[in-house]
Parts: sequence; structure tokens; C-alpha cells
Amino acid sequence: MNEESPSPRPEARGLAGLIGQEQVVRTLRGALASGRLHHAYLFDGPEGVGKATCARALFLAHNCLAPPALGEACGACETCHKVRVGTHPDLVLLDMTLQGLADEVERLIRRLAHPPHEARVRMVLLDPADNLAAPTAATAANRLLKTLEEPPARTHFVLITCAAQGLLPTIRSRTQRLRFVPLPDDLIAAELLARGHREPEMAVRLAQGSLGRALRYMEERAALDARQEAAGALRAAARSGAQRMAELAAEVGRDRDEAQETLGLLWLALHNELRAAVDGPAGIQRELLRQLRVVDEARMAIRRYTSAPLALEWMMRHLTPPTPGRPS
Ligand SMILES: [Zn+2]
Repeated sequence: MNEESPSPRPEARGLAGLIGQEQVVRTLRGALASGRLHHAYLFDGPEGVGKATCARALFLAHNCLAPPALGEACGACETCHKVRVGTHPDLVLLDMTLQGLADEVERLIRRLAHPPHEARVRMVLLDPADNLAAPTAATAANRLLKTLEEPPARTHFVLITCAAQGLLPTIRSRTQRLRFVPLPDDLIAAELLARGHREPEMAVRLAQGSLGRALRYMEERAALDARQEAAGALRAAARSGAQRMAELAAEVGRDRDEAQETLGLLWLALHNELRAAVDGPAGIQRELLRQLRVVDEARMAIRRYTSAPLALEWMMRHLTPPTPGRPS
């Protein structure tokens, strides 16, 4: 519904695309320049500050086919494209779901016995790595230890966590820990604006240093705005022709959960008007109450699995205020 605010992910820009993590970027650039990248990094820091983005950037720093500079990526080559859409065979995302983790680790170890498919350097991402500390993951964690200590050639590990102190000491000691910090407000605001979001102030305040949280808030707000708009349109369409009502009913009713949310907002708007009209003319109060009942009926009908477009169309027809001077 809202096509104007997709949030482009920045990983195709390499390390330069990472915002607010100067210390981490400096360390990684140094390691790249000297050819001494650690074989297993532990990216530790709060949620939504760029840890997974940094891991992908690091993978691209090794594998981009036309890097504009050390640690950067062109954003246009086949490798950059595959990483962006999540299909690169050598950027391995371990499924960290506890159930089946032992099997997943076995599969990984078998896979690592073969050289990378096409990348110069392969990367295994454990995100979140925290599950390895669960009692039921002891077998998986033990199997991983040796591989973490001595990974096969051209293979790097990145473990991602929000709480490094919860990880097993045996795992921690085999990795190099890089600390990610919460992002400054002005950087989050600039990033939101750069991604096409407007009025980022509230999102920045709620984000507390997490760009991920700020983006989720902006997306929720966009969804809410779209619903508010749809609720207003449904109400306005009650005064328009049958054609417009049918079109709108089909559009808003396409997703029944969305339709319910939208009707909830319409109900709330009518209810607020009723409260504001409590000292006003009785006729207005009666009409608002009538409309509230109409919306209620539509909501119940959708809940009872009546077709949502049909229920919405019925609602719009019955929301039409009675002609003045002719009591309903
Ligand atoms: Zn590239």
C-alpha cells in the first residue's frame, strides 16, 4: 500500500556504509590492511546498531568483484547483488533455532570440509549466537569449538550477540570481541531522513540508540497512517456512488486483518466524536450512535467470516447519514 518508503539496506556500501561504529570500523580496516583478519569475531552490542550489517560488509570487503577501496564494495557486481538479496552460497547463515541446532552444526561442519563455492573468503554467521549457551545446545556448542578454533582455510566466523557475558567462556575465548555502541540521535535522524522517512523525531526518541528500533517504529507509524487514511476514505465514500464504494471495499477488504484494524480506527474516531458531542444536540448523538452500531456490525460480520469487501460495502451504504428533514 505504501510504496514510497522502502528502507534500502546499506550493506552494499561496505564498511563505509556502517554508521556510528568508528572504533569497530577502524579495527576491521586495520585488520584488512595488514591481512590479519581474525578467523572468528564476536560482534557484541545492543540490538539494531549494525552488527549484522557489518558482518555482511566484511564479507563484501573480501569478495566484491570491483571494490572501489579497501573495505568497500561496489554495490553493483554479482557478489554485491547476491549478498543484497540473500542468496550468496558462501555467506552462510546458521539457523540458530534450538531445536535441530546439533544437526545444523553437523551439516555446517560437513559443508566446511569443502572449499567455498565461489567466494575468495567464506563467512559463517551465528545470529544470535546466544542460543549456544542453552543447556540443550551443549552438544552443538562442543562440536563447534574445534572448528571455531581452527576454521578451514578461507573461512571466517562472525558471532553476533547482545549479551556476550552470557556466552560460554570457551566460545568467547576463541573469538575476538568487537563492541558495538548505541548510535547517537543525530545519526539515527539523518539515516531515517536519508531513507525517505519524514518527521523522525519521535522515532529517534523511542529508539534509544537503535536504528533497527527506529526503523520499526517508522514502519509501524506508516502502517497506522495508511489505516487512518483508509478509515477516513471509507467514511467519506459513504456519500459517494456505488462504484466508488465497491472499489474501496475491494481495496480495504483485501486483507481481512487489515480491514479489522481499519474498522477499529473508524470506530474510535466515531466514538471520540460522540464524546465530544455529549453536550450537543440529541440528533447528532443519535446519528453517531447509529453509525457506531453500523461499524460494529461490519466488524462482527468480518469476524464471522463474511467476505470483508461485502461487509465493508454494506457498511458504507449504511453509514450514509439520513437526508436532512427526513427522519430515519
Ligand atoms: Zn561489488
